[in-house]
Amino acid sequence: MPELPEVETIKNQLNEKIEDAKILEVTYSDVIGSIIKKDFPLLAGKTITGFERYSKVLLIHINDTHLIQSGLGMSGSWRLWKKIEPVAHTHMTIKCELANKKIIYLAYVDPRRFGKMHFFSNAEWQEKKKSMGVDVSSSEFTVEYLEYCLKKYPERQLKPYLLDQKFFGGIGNYIACEICARAGIKPQRRCKNIRKYEYPRIIEATKSVLEGQIKRNGLTFSGGYADTTGAKGDGLSDLVVFHQQTCGLCGQDTIKKIVLAQRGTYYCTSCQN
Ligand SMILES: [Zn+2]
Repeated sequence: MPELPEVETIKNQLNEKIEDAKILEVTYSDVIGSIIKKDFPLLAGKTITGFERYSKVLLIHINDTHLIQSGLGMSGSWRLWKKIEPVAHTHMTIKCELANKKIIYLAYVDPRRFGKMHFFSNAEWQEKKKSMGVDVSSSEFTVEYLEYCLKKYPERQLKPYLLDQKFFGGIGNYIACEICARAGIKPQRRCKNIRKYEYPRIIEATKSVLEGQIKRNGLTFSGGYADTTGAKGDGLSDLVVFHQQTCGLCGQDTIKKIVLAQRGTYYCTSCQN
């Protein structure tokens, strides 16, 4: 599913192409009700003023006063088209006029329909954000914050805990496996057993995984993630343990697969302890 690096890629591509785009028309599919619970106000006539990402959520700013919060679920993506494209599972198409008068279509495609969209005022979003965890790509993800999290739940195992969006916003299954690998920590280690000298390693490992994936436009895996052009990400080439046969760090040992909290978990028995 699209995690932080994939949503960052989409956000960057949208900001490159769209700035102050006037919304001319919005069309919805018949099944949009499973994605948008509460009807949106009339968007035609309003302006898309930019895009932002928080954790794994995409924010589409409208008139600088409101925004659409778009969670991509398992298989959601935003595409940019010059003309209407016959892409299956397109649930929302926003026809826009750019400042140079060119017409562009911003389309939401989601085969499995686990994505969710909400329309918020900026103030409502700020409230909502308080209930979300720290975005792990932000400057708030510090050694001090990590220490607070690890001490709060000493019995929790590191890797499943890293998936908890209330504390570690933006991390998904593959990212959590890769962080543990690069930090040299077995995924099943309990928080109380993580030593203080390992805290900065976790922070550094997180940065390294995210940067590697963002540079490669994200990871396309079972969810079939695609960017705004419909292209896949090249993130596979940067994985060291997730779905790997041989460890990408030591280049020698066979990767072990276990199941932790119902999620497939991969690690190297030599590099991680
Ligand atoms: Zn290894």
